[in-house]
Amino acid sequence: EFDLKGKVVVVSGGAQGLGLALSEALIEAGATVHALDLQDKPETEDFQRVASLSLSLNDKEFVYHRIDVTHRLQVDQTFAEISEAEEGHIDGVLAAAGIQNICPALEYKSEDFDKMLRVNVTGCFNVARAGAKQMVEAGNGGSILMIASMSGSIANKGLICPAYNASKAAVVQLGRNLASEWGVHNIRVNTLSPGYIRTNMLTSLFDSHPGMEQQWEGDNMLGRLSTPDEYRGAAVFLMSKASSFMTGADLKIDGGHTA
Ligand code: NAD
Repeated sequence: EFDLKGKVVVVSGGAQGLGLALSEALIEAGATVHALDLQDKPETEDFQRVASLSLSLNDKEFVYHRIDVTHRLQVDQTFAEISEAEEGHIDGVLAAAGIQNICPALEYKSEDFDKMLRVNVTGCFNVARAGAKQMVEAGNGGSILMIASMSGSIANKGLICPAYNASKAAVVQLGRNLASEWGVHNIRVNTLSPGYIRTNMLTSLFDSHPGMEQQWEGDNMLGRLSTPDEYRGAAVFLMSKASSFMTGADLKIDGGHTA
C-alpha cells in the first residue's frame, strides 16, 4: 500500500528543510526523487545522507536541478527533461518550495507582497502544472501534493504575516480546483497544511524576533514546535496507493493549533 518502488517523484524545495526530509521519506519508501531548488547543489551533511541513501537503497541517484520555480519555462523544460530521462515516467510531484516574511501590512513593500505570491502560489502552480502535463501525456495518472500551511486558515496575533497567510490559503484553494480539473486523468491533488516546523524558515525569524519562539510553541495543544520528520508518514501516504481515493483534500497536521 505504501510502497513507492519504481515511482518517480519530483520535489520542489528539496535542498533543505521539509522538502529534503520528505524526499528522504519517499526514497526510503522506494521512490526515485528529483529535487528542484533555487540554491546551488547543497553540500550539507543532511543532503549527502539522502543522496547516499538513494544510491544504496534504490540504486538510483537523488538528482538535483537548480531552478527557480517562478520561471514557468524553466520549470516546464526541467519536467520534460526529467520525464525523458525516466522514460516518460513522472508519478508524483511534491511542491514544497516557499518563502516567509514577517511584516505589518501598512509597511509591506509592493514588490515583497508580489514576490510572496509569485513564489508560494505561482511557483506551486508552475510545478504542479508541469508535472500534470507529463502525467497526462504518459496516461498513468499520478499524485500531486502541495505544501500549504495552517497559516492559511488563521490570523496570527502579534507577529504578522499577511502575505504569507494569504498565499497559503490560495495554495489550498488551488489544490481543490486542480483536483477537480485533473481527476478525469486519475491525477490526485491534495494539500498538506503543517503547523510550525523548526526549519531555517522559522529559526531565522526567531533570531530577529525575541520571544516569538516561546509564543508560537504555546499556541498549539502539544505545546511545542514540530520537526520536518513528523510529516514523513503523511507524504508517503499521499504519494502512494494507500490514498488512492483521496483528492481535493487538505490534510492538517498542526498539533491541534487550528482545531
Ligand atoms: P526552508 O526555507 O528550509 O525551505 C524552503 C526551500 O525552498 C529552500 O530550500 C529554498 O531555497 C527553496 N525555494 C525558495 N524559493 C524558491 C524558488 N523561487 N525556486 C525554487 N526553490 C525555492 O523552509 P521549510 O520550512 O522547509 O519550508 C518548506 C515548505 O513548508 C514551504 O512551502 C513552507 O511555506 C511550508 N511550511 C513551513 C512551515 C514552517 O513552520 N517551517 C510551516 C508550514 C508550512
